[in-house]
Amino acid sequence: MKILINGIQAGLRFSSAHLIPGHSSCGHIHGHSYFVDIEVEGECSGKFDFVVDFQDIKSFIDARCSELDHRILIPVQNNLIEFKDFKKLEDSIEKLENANTVHFKVDGKGYSLPSVDCVFLDLPYTSAEELSKYFADLLVEELSKKYDNISSISVCVNEGIGQGALYTKELVE
Ligand SMILES: [Zn+2]
Repeated sequence: MKILINGIQAGLRFSSAHLIPGHSSCGHIHGHSYFVDIEVEGECSGKFDFVVDFQDIKSFIDARCSELDHRILIPVQNNLIEFKDFKKLEDSIEKLENANTVHFKVDGKGYSLPSVDCVFLDLPYTSAEELSKYFADLLVEELSKKYDNISSISVCVNEGIGQGALYTKELVE
C-alpha cells in the first residue's frame, strides 16, 4: 500500500531564495515557491492499519519547510562558494549561523548577508534534486523511530508548478 501527500494541497510549502553557483541563469539569486510531495509505501499495520499516520508526516515536513521559509538557502559544500573566516572541512556550520554577517564569494562575485536571513545547508547545491534528498533523508530518520513497516519513501521537491525532482529511498529490512 502506498500513501500520497500532495504538498500544494496539504500546505507543505516554503518560499526561499537560492542560486546555483556557476549556472548561466540560475547563478543569480532568485526565488521559488516550493512545495513538497510525499509518497510512503509499506505494509498496513498498527492499531488503525495505517501505512503511516498522515499527521506524522505532515507535522514533520511542515516544520522542516518552516525552517527554510523566507530564507536564502546556502549550499555550504559547493565548490564555487568561498566563505570568509570559515573552512568547509574543519569548521562547524554553527560558526556561520552564529556570525552576524556572512561574507562569501561565488565565481568572483561578493556577497555579504545577515546570517539570520540564511539557512546554511550541508549540501553541494540547493537544487530541487539535492533538496528532495535532504527532505527524504530527514523523513527516513524521523519515521524510522516509530515505524518498521515502511519499504520506501519518496519525496518530490517542486520549484513551483510544473517542475520538481523526485527522490526515492528504499528501506531494507
Ligand atoms: Zn532556482
